[in-house]
Amino acid sequence: MRDLSFSSGGISVNLLSSYPEKVKNLPFPEKITLPLKQDMSPQLSSIRKKKAKIAAGDVIATGPDGSLISPVSGEIVNVIKDFKSHLGGKCSAIEILVNDIEFSVDFPTDTGFLHNVIKGGIVDIQDKVLFLAKKIEMAQKNKVNTLIVNGLEEIIANGKNYFFLQKQINVIKQGFEQVINLFKPNKIFLAIYSDYRHIDGFVDQLNSSLAPLGIKIVFLKKKYPQHKIPLLVKTILNEELEMDKPIEESLHTTILDLETIYHLGLLINNKVPYREKIVTVIDGDISNSQLVKVTIGTPIHYILEKLNIDTKSISKVIINGTISGIAIYDINYPITKDIGSIFVLKKGQVNTYSDAVCIKCGLCVEVCPMGLMPLFIFGYSKTKQFDFTKKFYIEKCIECGCCAYVCPVNIPLVQWIKYGKANLNIK
Ligand code: SF4
Ligand code: SF4
Repeated sequence: MRDLSFSSGGISVNLLSSYPEKVKNLPFPEKITLPLKQDMSPQLSSIRKKKAKIAAGDVIATGPDGSLISPVSGEIVNVIKDFKSHLGGKCSAIEILVNDIEFSVDFPTDTGFLHNVIKGGIVDIQDKVLFLAKKIEMAQKNKVNTLIVNGLEEIIANGKNYFFLQKQINVIKQGFEQVINLFKPNKIFLAIYSDYRHIDGFVDQLNSSLAPLGIKIVFLKKKYPQHKIPLLVKTILNEELEMDKPIEESLHTTILDLETIYHLGLLINNKVPYREKIVTVIDGDISNSQLVKVTIGTPIHYILEKLNIDTKSISKVIINGTISGIAIYDINYPITKDIGSIFVLKKGQVNTYSDAVCIKCGLCVEVCPMGLMPLFIFGYSKTKQFDFTKKFYIEKCIECGCCAYVCPVNIPLVQWIKYGKANLNIK
């Protein structure tokens, strides 16, 4: 991709930042699909059956740590048993014929903060997608005293976090107040990219809103994959993450995504549960991106059509990242809570992975932000010598994809590393 170039320890952006000023609200589609597994927890249990009439805001599936709210009013027209999830495996899914999205259910209830977080279905999206209630439980059990809010974009030139901090600062402030009240941390950091400093008045506005809450803003260089937890922790706390322990346990620290803070502010102060998603859509090139707000469950092809993206010329659609995202098999796939971006590649833009022999150029080593030697890890994994991959610290790989991005012979390094991890049972 012409806007990205690699440098030692990661990938940089050549593009000067131009953040989308607006979020386009898309009309609701005729039908939505809601998979009952949108996070790393076990599948939720449906509490509504086929032909049930539902109102926007009704709980339609529950689990111990979170719920799924119907974002629309309408009728359940299908319950699919073997819906193929992009997270791997299959789950159930509910299809709803949409009448309206007018929200008529009282929310939040007065039964306490945690109950509202569970009912509101708030998830936190870091390397794993977890219900916020689960993270709160882990944080309280391990007496966390440091909170880091990750305001770095998952993909470069995304703009979603700029929108939250520039246009929705009051909601963000309300969300922060809720978590601060809950955790009572000694230290609170908000990590954002340093190029926000060049935007007139931006930093002053942030400071005047957030500094009174004791939040320290940390400006970090725009480089992929700085947003990944081990790198964030190293940069902000100067600590190494123990890969086999949750951060709550090893460093008494919890990391929440800025989007989680936004949804929390919406839930508690504005009475809006997790029913819509702001998604970045990139049409072929990161300079051609826009933000859209869609109802959860909206099919991806509907979004592309509404944005006049020619679906016939698409070669591949990748969700959640320009470099380390996942290709989806079907553009009818719905927007779930864990989908933050859609990257559309046109014919001729797709690198085909090859089975070529490694030419030992060393580029993958140079770019690896974790200081690993990807060529050896992939080589030993491919030849099933998994014990040797451990000698090269396979468990430290954060699957950022930088190595595969720079490999001149297109070796699918991350897939081989994942294969090795799966055989060693490394999660
Ligand atoms: S080996 Fe892992 S951490 Fe290093 S560049 Fe490749 S995917 Fe990223
Ligand atoms: S970048 Fe590709 S070709 Fe170069 S050393 Fe790494 S695996 Fe081998």
